[in-house]
Parts: sequence; C-alpha cells; structure tokens
Amino acid sequence: MKLFTTVLTSIPLCSSVGVSVGNERAAGSSWGYDEQGDDWGDSAETCNGNRQSPIDIPKNYSSAEFQPFQLTNFDDEQNWTLFNNGHSVQMTASNLNMKLNGGALPGEYILAQFHFHWGSADHAGSEHTLEGKQYFSEVHLVHFKAEYETIGNSVSKGDGLAVLGFFIEEDPYAEDTPLDNFFRNLVGEAVQNPSETSTVQFSMTDILPSTLDNFYRYLGSLTTPTCNEAVVWTNFKESLKISSKTREFMTQFAKDNHGEDLVKNYRNVQPLNGREVTFYSSQVDRLNLIEYHFERIVEALPDRPWSDRYEQRLNKQLKKAESAFTGVNCYKENGFGSDDSADDVQVFDESDFCKLNGQVNAALNSWARNNACEGRGKVYRQIIRASRKVRNLFDRKMSC
Ligand SMILES: [Zn+2]
Repeated sequence: MKLFTTVLTSIPLCSSVGVSVGNERAAGSSWGYDEQGDDWGDSAETCNGNRQSPIDIPKNYSSAEFQPFQLTNFDDEQNWTLFNNGHSVQMTASNLNMKLNGGALPGEYILAQFHFHWGSADHAGSEHTLEGKQYFSEVHLVHFKAEYETIGNSVSKGDGLAVLGFFIEEDPYAEDTPLDNFFRNLVGEAVQNPSETSTVQFSMTDILPSTLDNFYRYLGSLTTPTCNEAVVWTNFKESLKISSKTREFMTQFAKDNHGEDLVKNYRNVQPLNGREVTFYSSQVDRLNLIEYHFERIVEALPDRPWSDRYEQRLNKQLKKAESAFTGVNCYKENGFGSDDSADDVQVFDESDFCKLNGQVNAALNSWARNNACEGRGKVYRQIIRASRKVRNLFDRKMSC
C-alpha cells in the first residue's frame, strides 16, 4: 500500500549541496552570511545551479518503503578535532571508521565531520525548513561515499556525500540533555575565535536520537560555497532538543571572521526545481504490515455474507488510519499508548486466526493512537470503537 503518493515531475540531477567540507577554508574565504547566501552565485557559479540546498521540505512529498539505517562504530568513544572555521563550529573525526549503511542510501558512507548552523537571540537559524517552519538550529553529519575513498574525490560526484540533518529546537521544559552537555561543557568556548582548534572525546550516539525512524530524502548540494551538487540529503522529521540556557549559549559561543558573535550562519532555502522529496517512515511500514495480515485473514475466511461485512468494515478503519497519518508519534497529546510502541503487537501469530484477528485490531488501535495527531484524537476514538465491533463479529462467527 502506498501512502501519500504524490507524483512530481522527475528531477534533473544537478550539482551543489551546502556543507563545509573538511578543514580547509573555502575557496574565497571572503564569503559570509550577510545576505544568507543570496550573493554567493556571483563568485561560485554552481551556487546558481538547479540542485541546490537547503530547501523547504514540502507537505506534498512522496513516500517509499521504510529502510532502517545501520550505524557502525557510532557508539565508540572517538577523538574529535574541534574547529572554528569562521562560518561554523565543526567537529572532524580522527578515525574514519564510523560507517553509515541502509536508509535507502546508494551505498556505504563514512562519517568525516559534523557542524552546526544556528540562529540569533531573536531569529531562527536552521537551513532546511519543514513545511515553512524554521528551527533554531540544524546539525549536519557529513559522510563521503566509501567507494570514492576521500571527501575530496566525493565532492565532484552526484552521490559523493550523504549528509544527515537534524533540526535542533529549544524545549523550555527539558532537563539538560547529552546535547546540552555537548555544547556547554564539551565544546564550551574552546574554539571561540576563528582558526582555533581543540580536541575532545565523545561517542556520536550520545547526541543522536535513539531511533532514526522518520526521514526525508532528496538530492541537493553543499549549503556553503562552492555549493557542490554532490549531496544525498537525509532530513529527520523529529527535532533534537536543547534547553533555553543552551540556546542562549549558542548565540555567543563562537566569533566570526570579523570578531562578531557568529549567528545566523544559514543559507536561505533554494527552489526545488521539480526535485522529488521522499518520506521514509517506520510508521508507514507498520500500517503496511497490519494490512498484510488483515488480507491474510480475509483470504482464509469462509465465503459467507458476514465475512464481506468484516472485510468492508475493517478496510474502512484502515483507510481512516491511513488518512490520519502525520508521521509524528503523538501518544502524549492523545494520552494513550507509548513512545516506542512497546504495547504494540510486535510479532503477529501466523497460525491462529482468532489470535491474529485480535492482534490486527490491537495493532491498528495502537497505530491510530500513536499517529492521530494534532486534533485527530477523534479519529482514534472512532477507529477503536468500530474495530472492536468488527473484532467481536469475527470472534462470534468463528467461535473464537
Ligand atoms: Zn551544514
């Protein structure tokens, strides 16, 4: 079952994605964020290309079958070199052994560095925006394709780099998170001035979310000159959280090349130019699984009038769940369920149809309450009521 399939015109693959590469000063270290990148095309032609980043991630994306990421060695304690390159604060890995696979990427990629973009006291500063919303900050994990061996070789290839982007936003109620600790204690003011370096030790997974379940994919560019169109972008839907104190800290923890506080180091969003944005979600996958087992039950049913009723009614609820899908797990808002679907049915019983019917219903209810967000709680209640009746019908007729 395809959800939210929107057909967009197919996209010419072009050049230029905006991330700082390596430690080298960008060609023309004179570039800056005075015009949020609108002037870069004057000196770097690729910045005017038609596969540029960042973009506003649109509402009408297409969706595809979920493929989980596999991270290798991301949980090892590693040595990182901290560097203020005048445009951002960047961490470069001293060990190129952190590997990224899966996630519908075209091959294996190796983590080389990560860096941040952020706003000011009164302005948001993420590069990508999500349906028009700009977040306070965004972190970019820059990987090069293993096949191309170096980051230098990779910047000239259309699929040379894979960048994972996470939005970062303030949660005024948050306890200090590992990310807060990272900014305020580990980075601190160690590289306050341009060209300063420092060394720190930490494990990448400390600052990443525990699951990487909902993400967007499109083809774009580095977001800094020379805007190489070499990036396979992954932007995660859920944001990382920092405290208000950390947000404030980030507006003065680094200076730019003019000795001013480095703030608003983001590029304006670029036109899509017909590119497709694809959404991958484990939640979509889960609904597909529910539908698969529902169809198995239907196929095994005896041919009687009530079985048609069963099929039609449960089908209707599945459609309802599909249209209530938001991709955001909002169990808190609805006051039910769990944040990790732990109460969900994880393994469907293949042999016992009475059991399977109960499991399909339970999984559908759980799915609905975890997804019927933003005022869609009513949909959840309708689904749970209706599917209980369908379940009882089955149990009665099949003498479960
Ligand atoms: Zn970046």
